[in-house]
Amino acid sequence: MEQRTFHTWMRNALLWAALALILGIAAAWPLTGFTQCVTALAHSLFFFLSLFIFFVVLPRYCTLPIQIFIAMLTGALLGWLYTAFGYAPVITDYLGIFGKLFILLLKVVILPLIFVSVLCGVAGIGDVRKLGGLGAKTLCYYFVTTAIAVLIGLSVVNLLHPGVGRETLKEDVQEQNVSLQDTGVPSESLGTKIQKHVLPAIIRNPIMAGQSPVVVIFFALLLGAALATLGKEGETALHFFQALDKAFITIIMWVMKMAPIGVFALMARVLSELGPAYIITLAKYCFTVLLGLGLHFFVLTFVICPLLARISPWRFLRGMAPAFQVSFSTSSSSATLPVTIRCVSKRIGADESICRFVLPVGATINMDGTALYLTVASIFIAQVYGIPLSLQAQLMIFLTAVLASVGTAGIPGASIGLMSIILASAQIPVEGIGIVVGVDRILDMSRTLINVTGDSVGAVIVSRSEAGEAHNTHAT
Ligand code: ASP
Repeated sequence: MEQRTFHTWMRNALLWAALALILGIAAAWPLTGFTQCVTALAHSLFFFLSLFIFFVVLPRYCTLPIQIFIAMLTGALLGWLYTAFGYAPVITDYLGIFGKLFILLLKVVILPLIFVSVLCGVAGIGDVRKLGGLGAKTLCYYFVTTAIAVLIGLSVVNLLHPGVGRETLKEDVQEQNVSLQDTGVPSESLGTKIQKHVLPAIIRNPIMAGQSPVVVIFFALLLGAALATLGKEGETALHFFQALDKAFITIIMWVMKMAPIGVFALMARVLSELGPAYIITLAKYCFTVLLGLGLHFFVLTFVICPLLARISPWRFLRGMAPAFQVSFSTSSSSATLPVTIRCVSKRIGADESICRFVLPVGATINMDGTALYLTVASIFIAQVYGIPLSLQAQLMIFLTAVLASVGTAGIPGASIGLMSIILASAQIPVEGIGIVVGVDRILDMSRTLINVTGDSVGAVIVSRSEAGEAHNTHAT
């Protein structure tokens, strides 16, 4: 090993050992006897091993999704074991710090990221007034199908109630607080104080904290459209926002490096609070998301496509097969775009120049699968926490999901950050992301396929209608 690498490695190991020791001692405090000292050392070892495995060992051998998946399984197992042996506070109060840190860091950049990516997405379409009928049709189709997707999501999650039955979490937490206050024991441990007061006081967005996401997205839509109409004059500002967009994505990439330990801590906490029956709840959740996505796929290919584009579902499915394969395996609608354009224009026969406009716009702003997924996930989390959602709150979720999907990047896992926005706008605890993040990759593959399907059906419909209009013009 090179000497410098070895020094960095040793320095990190020492820092982690110190952090682990502090957490271990705090978790076993007060150290009044031999048993407490041994317990403190055991906890420290546990924290140190967690840091070592998630920051050194796993990044060397596995990709990020696999690391997150391993974190989910081990976190669940340890959360359950620790609670079974009566050490639940170590998980909730101390290991929980890593989960809280992960969520707060995500929240810091997500709202500004949404702002700039919605703005750049809308401005990228160009001057809407100049696009004329083609632009209007495309935007109208995208908006309506996204709204249908969200409605399907709302229906399945409200009919199947995958999270109901686990809503004891909120009551448990409340009861715990009350009983601690009754007995005169200080109601907050050091770890809880760090999570509740210290971290949120430091890690918060200085400009957009507390802003309503819908307000931010609406303003971004307006400003993006206005910049596009300015043409050359608006270019400098647009370049500035595009650079900012890249900077925020870079921060997200940094934050994602701590995703495995964050997920590990969040899963351990969820298991220690909800118990092992949570695994069944999670399976129900996956089923609900997949059912919703399946229904939307059916509506797009078997109803909308033959009805509006006069293309048989079988021809559409056969033509799209390569794009389906790529989107499913990459979980990225942006990466799939060249294949999508080829499938829709060459294999299905839509007009190529129309595809070259409609599909890139779709890959930027039209995310049916993502919008549906965000809706189901948010309401599922509310069900798990036992938070009743009024019609007004569900409408808010509808609106935020439709608008937020406009700002989703077509890259793997983009929805995870967005979820914090939807949860915050419906007043659902953002920590709930920890309940669903472990199975995100599997669902990401499926929702990306639906995103690509939505864009492609749009392209064939617009192409068909433009061809119809051209035909009519020639005839007259
Ligand atoms: N992976 C999705 C896509 O590329 C976005 C998401 O995370 O929902 O379309």
